Amino acid sequence: MIDIHSHILPGIDDGAQSYTDSIILAEKALSEGIHTILATPHHRNGKYVNVKEDILQRVEELNKTFQEQGIALKVLPGQETRIYGEMVEDYRKGELLTLNQGSRYLFVEFPSNSVPGYAERLFFDLQNEGLIPIIVHPERNAELIERSDKLYTLVKNGALTQVTAASLTGYFGKNIQKFSRQMIESNLAHFIASDAHNVKNRTFKMTEAIEIIEKQYGIDMIHYFTENAELLIKDKNIYKEVPERIKKKKFLGIF
Ligand code: FE
Repeated sequence: MIDIHSHILPGIDDGAQSYTDSIILAEKALSEGIHTILATPHHRNGKYVNVKEDILQRVEELNKTFQEQGIALKVLPGQETRIYGEMVEDYRKGELLTLNQGSRYLFVEFPSNSVPGYAERLFFDLQNEGLIPIIVHPERNAELIERSDKLYTLVKNGALTQVTAASLTGYFGKNIQKFSRQMIESNLAHFIASDAHNVKNRTFKMTEAIEIIEKQYGIDMIHYFTENAELLIKDKNIYKEVPERIKKKKFLGIF
């Protein structure tokens, strides 16, 4: 299995702090059946700046370390960029890194509580540039939970989304878990990934999430998500269904 979102590169964000941490994360990943992982460090989130060249070099170093240690996990480069107005310009300048370096797929993170007013326009511009924005964990964004039509519109206009495994398992609470399911049921989810930062409170949860998905939606849904991750790293077109609006329930049910 391929995990397309992780903070396994050591010492550059709030993920792994040392090579030891990276190795511990790698072993946990392997134990969950992950053989390939994208290292997607935070970029311009107000705390960390990690430009393309830097990430590429560090991924190479980490792969070398893993090889030396006999750890059979392949690390591919990526980046988790917090949305900002000059993304197209900076992509042209070579600061932004698409997933697996050179694919069309670009991670975009929203602030946790809101969606900037310029998001729709920026996504249009990114797509005009030949890129395909993937919104990371929209199920954890307070505004999108409240106004799911915004997410629907972005997806309808060509954006993709990545749901975090731990959201499905309930780690971030019932609301986020419920919204994650609604996203899957409304064809608004295209990838499941770990966003693993460490093996304590922000670990993989991929096995657990996959069990939940299989139980609720069947094995075909597992194939859909795992194959999409494979298509992504090959820069091929992914599978997607026509998105639907999430229907608001009239009463509070026990789900
Ligand atoms: Fe992340």
